[in-house]
Amino acid sequence: MKENSEVKIDRKIGCDDLIVIAGAGGFIAGALTRHFHELGYARIRAIDRKPLPEWYQRVPGVESLSMDLSEKTNAVRAVEGAAEVYNMAADMGGMGFIERFRVECLRSILINTHLIEAAWRAGAQRYFFSSSACAYNTDLQQDPNVRALKESDAYPAMAERGYGWEKLISEMFCQEYWAERGLETHMARFHNIYGPNGTWFGGREKAPAALSRKVIEAIDRGETTIDIWGDGTQTRSFCFIEDCVLGIDQIMHCDRLIATPINLGSSELISINDLAAMVERIAGVKLQRTYDLNAPLGVAGRNSDNTFIRSVLDWEPRTPLRIGMEKTYAWIAQQYADRKAGKRVVKD
Ligand code: NAD
Repeated sequence: MKENSEVKIDRKIGCDDLIVIAGAGGFIAGALTRHFHELGYARIRAIDRKPLPEWYQRVPGVESLSMDLSEKTNAVRAVEGAAEVYNMAADMGGMGFIERFRVECLRSILINTHLIEAAWRAGAQRYFFSSSACAYNTDLQQDPNVRALKESDAYPAMAERGYGWEKLISEMFCQEYWAERGLETHMARFHNIYGPNGTWFGGREKAPAALSRKVIEAIDRGETTIDIWGDGTQTRSFCFIEDCVLGIDQIMHCDRLIATPINLGSSELISINDLAAMVERIAGVKLQRTYDLNAPLGVAGRNSDNTFIRSVLDWEPRTPLRIGMEKTYAWIAQQYADRKAGKRVVKD
């Protein structure tokens, strides 16, 4: 088996064992599919409810199925013969989406409920669930100068309404399937993953992609102003997709992390104003800003405490925000040009 980094991972599966990746038409699972394919795993089943032409990435040689995994029969079919199952399928987006569509977010519970049961019945060796920093208690995130969130901060529970509660209860499913039924489960709480091949327009995009697109649009249209959601003082940390994918691989294959949620994110905190300024520097422009104080904002500040993941996996994101944003900006600029030229691009 090839290694695409200096990190050695004992995956305990053979290259002909079946890896099932749910949500693979989307951003993170699409990148994970490519990762395992490039490592030489020959049997990967990628699944998403989107029709195949709408997948963000299609990896040649990978079995790709369009199925709605919130249906039990599809979940059973999806994991047939699987050694490992990665559940990254969810109805999700940036704050603009998760604050408006709480029912859709909550209904993702059906995906995990059916998939984990089917994986256990199918005798899968390992099951991964993509949780979120939105599972953390929101009372701890009311100040932009946040204390970074450590894993124990999810309880007492006061998760983000809708989306965050779905993540928290699905984590509990993972913990109890291990405790009662012996299915080995792993969970990562992602903190704002960004990078090429993610959604960049249409309402589900997150701040790094949205700000890049706004700057590109302003330049293209000869405008001098961009709009910012909120007053721009809200803070977040952002983790580059390649670092995230390697982190998922390490978390899934670490015995110490069975049934144990862990942060997967950057601890480099930045305000939205400073992120906008970074995008402007990358683009070589300086724009004025209007602040939309009625836009969906989410919590005032959120950062990842990486003490636990550093101690268990020696993992930290390797990509500085500036480098990751340069790659993201360049990719979105190309997508923007392609869309203008009438070519097919990534959309939600
Ligand atoms: P994404 O929207 O790009 O990918 C999710 C995919 O799931 C989509 O392609 C969607 O079509 C698919 N899907 C939704 N419902 C489905 C269903 N019923 N059956 C089959 N497929 C279905 O999102 P992403 O950013 O790649 O996120 C992947 C996972 O990571 C999600 O669980 C998300 O909640 C979690 N997460 C992401 C971030 C982030 O910053 N991107 C942060 C925290 C958590």
